[in-house]
Amino acid sequence: MPEGARERRVRTGGVELCVAELGDPGQPTVVLVHGYPDSKEVWSEVAARLAERFHVVLYDVRGHGRSTAPEPLRGGFTLAKLTDDFLAVVDEVSPDRPVHLVGHDWGSVQAWEFVTVGRTEGRIASFTSMSGPSLDHFGQWINARVKRPTPRRVGQLLGQGAKSWYVYLLHTPALPELAWRGPLGKRWSKILERVERAPGGGGYPTSSLPSDAAHGAWLYRDNVRARLRRPRTDAYAHVPVQLITPQDDAFLSERLYDDLEQWAPRLTRRTLAAGHWIPRTRPDQLSAWIGEFVMSVEGGHPAPKATGRHADRFGGQLVLVTGAGSGIGRATAFAFAEAGARVVAVDRDAEAAARTAELSRLVGAPEAWAETADVSDEQAMEKLAEKVHRAYGVLDVLVNNAGIGLSGSFFATTPEDWRKVLDVNLWGVIHGCRLFGARMAERGQGGHIVNTASAAAYQPSRALPAYSTSKAAVLMLSECLRAELADQGIGVSAICPGFVNTNITATARFAGVDEAEERRRQEKSSRLYGMRNYPPEKVAEAILDAVIRNRAVVPVTPEARGAHLMSRYLPGLLRRLARVEPRL
Ligand code: NAP
Repeated sequence: MPEGARERRVRTGGVELCVAELGDPGQPTVVLVHGYPDSKEVWSEVAARLAERFHVVLYDVRGHGRSTAPEPLRGGFTLAKLTDDFLAVVDEVSPDRPVHLVGHDWGSVQAWEFVTVGRTEGRIASFTSMSGPSLDHFGQWINARVKRPTPRRVGQLLGQGAKSWYVYLLHTPALPELAWRGPLGKRWSKILERVERAPGGGGYPTSSLPSDAAHGAWLYRDNVRARLRRPRTDAYAHVPVQLITPQDDAFLSERLYDDLEQWAPRLTRRTLAAGHWIPRTRPDQLSAWIGEFVMSVEGGHPAPKATGRHADRFGGQLVLVTGAGSGIGRATAFAFAEAGARVVAVDRDAEAAARTAELSRLVGAPEAWAETADVSDEQAMEKLAEKVHRAYGVLDVLVNNAGIGLSGSFFATTPEDWRKVLDVNLWGVIHGCRLFGARMAERGQGGHIVNTASAAAYQPSRALPAYSTSKAAVLMLSECLRAELADQGIGVSAICPGFVNTNITATARFAGVDEAEERRRQEKSSRLYGMRNYPPEKVAEAILDAVIRNRAVVPVTPEARGAHLMSRYLPGLLRRLARVEPRL
């Protein structure tokens, strides 16, 4: 347990529950209920963070951790008895004020019962659910699909059926107990670390795990079959609910929650790029979302709802975009802002960065800051990273987008031209990945890096040797880093936009021509890009989508997608096209 936890025992229904408390009892009470096979220690990281603001209460569910088990075990774990336990705990720890309930896995399954039965009304203020559906809602979900079996619905049933393999095993007699008290119990912490990347340590998992898991098999046996066969039809939540869904949950399909508004009308949805054991793998994000939700309910106003399509995924996250003063970077900052993210807008043009930050706040960012830095300047980037980490925190999403254009044949491109384009387009990305990516990896709670490459990264051209080389390097750097960071839950995406109508054509350099000719070519290419008129907002959309789906390489415009296909299947044709000199 985190330092300073106070313990007490609560007697109820023939068992003694071990209850731990942290934080100031004068603050709103948050009760954390653990799942299977776990004990209250699964919450230690989340509890320590929440205790800075709230009165936090955790208890070992009957038969788990340091709580005693009912006798006999059979029939001792029904949802009705678990509800008695919960009420006994809250009567002790918060007799006069309703509590904010948070459940993970089976803790959430039982908490759904608590918030949908009449006898708890007035005792619960809100509920945050993660990775544990109501058995009644689940039963209704199955019934609806069996009664009206379209191919899509049958697919959903089969998908969830496959994910529930362990539930069938847990219904077999004696086998789960033997496995948990034998080899499975011994290896569990290694399995959690390897499969779920859930860090052990700090007394987690506890040594009681084999017996917790053996007792907990009765959670399934006492409830699952009975409830799925005859689900309650009145299981409506009488409190506001926040649903946090990990995208990569190995045991639960996201589709289970499709109709949840019907049962929980005051619903806030959150989505996380993570596996099942999020209390261990994402404590920062969870405590932030729980804290925000609790405060919004305490304040009597609904949870903050950003209007953007992806508010469930990016609400409250910290996102930094370079080159945010113009074009794709600016549109990306706005898209994240609309989704409720906190935005750091970086550009070498201070005024442009400030404008982006100001507008980001107007369109939905709860906080937005402008920072001035030249991404090619290592020291400036070090200073920037130091300030961002100190003042705003570790990034959830980094978008290395700043870049410059350079056109001209290889022999017209001077070493100075080469240096400039590589310094900004490649070194700018390297500095960003090094300085911000390192802290993301060190935090160990996932994240995402987006690097803006270009279709020029895979489409050779005699007119763009330096620019294309810089972008091909960014593409390969992204692929290598993606491989390196995959184990740490950090995604890396390379975006390859195509022709996008931004200011880049007006600022791009043309090597080997005089100033007047350069200006003429800039104007001509600006006109052509203007005629093509592909908006940077669509690239921004593709960037958010790449983060959500953790896509590796994202060609955006149709021509970028076409060239990408050709680079794979018709590279000879692409090479011939590369020989054509563009007439500007
Ligand atoms: P843009 O409108 O010119 O925006 C780029 C922004 O980055 C500008 O505000 C620019 O400031 C800033 N910037 C440039 N160098 C910087 C540096 N060293 N440090 C900090 N900020 C810097 O261009 P864009 O089209 O949005 O380009 C964004 C990215 O997309 C670039 O990496 C580009 O290569 C890539 N891309 C664009 C297209 C396209 O068709 N537009 C296609 C493929 C890839 P200044 O205005 O002061 O230069």
